Amino acid sequence: MNQRAILKTIFFLIILAYASLLYYISTHRTLKTNPIEDWQKFELAVRDGAIDKAAAKKALPAIMAQLETLARHYSFAYGQNWIFPVPGYDLSAIAGKNGNLYRPDIVYGSSPVKGYDFFDGNNHGGHPAHDIIIRDTDQDCLDDRTNKPVAVVAVADCLVLGTHTGWQPGSPLRGGNVAWLYNPNLQMVFYYAHLDKVMVKPGQLLKAGEVIGTIGRTGFSAEKKDSPTHLHLMVLQYQDNQLKPFNFYTILKDSTK
Ligand SMILES: [Zn+2]
Repeated sequence: MNQRAILKTIFFLIILAYASLLYYISTHRTLKTNPIEDWQKFELAVRDGAIDKAAAKKALPAIMAQLETLARHYSFAYGQNWIFPVPGYDLSAIAGKNGNLYRPDIVYGSSPVKGYDFFDGNNHGGHPAHDIIIRDTDQDCLDDRTNKPVAVVAVADCLVLGTHTGWQPGSPLRGGNVAWLYNPNLQMVFYYAHLDKVMVKPGQLLKAGEVIGTIGRTGFSAEKKDSPTHLHLMVLQYQDNQLKPFNFYTILKDSTK
């Protein structure tokens, strides 16, 4: 081998070693973050006002991009009808008339602020949700007809992002026991609140119609006597770097019951 060939070989080996090092660093950097844990920390900080609103707004796109990358490893059905979130019930169980209590812009309940903004956390205003009321006159969270708990199910294929459990009466937290879900095709985040039992775990994949938990009376207002036992279901659409309330009433109209 002449000197030129030896130099060429050494040069090639150096390039190969460098490329391998870059590859190692890049893969290990992506492994260092857990998108679901990052979402949970973020959502908790927003809920509790532990993160400045402007900082939270700035952080959201990276959190959502990570979640989308993670979710793309799994398959989510396209173009499927939603499943009605409370089996055994239909549109007539939705509070109000023709979904008119979906009001992201009103002063609602104990909220001191008008209008819904995800970044207001537990102090948010508005009611960007539909309440699905069950038959529970004695408020024991059991269906009066069956004497059994009432399940809530995923309306579409979803990745479970986070849950809050262990809510205690008297807590100022308005959602009570909740589940946050995500669908990357729809670019939507689903929020099921006031649950009794939460039966899913973060990171779990749910097919449309799979059980998330049971309807309860957890949450600051939901536990009070004047509140009928209901599921509070909110859907946020990720658009223009924001999580915006999405009115899904017409989708529920066409949903599978
Ligand atoms: Zn509600």
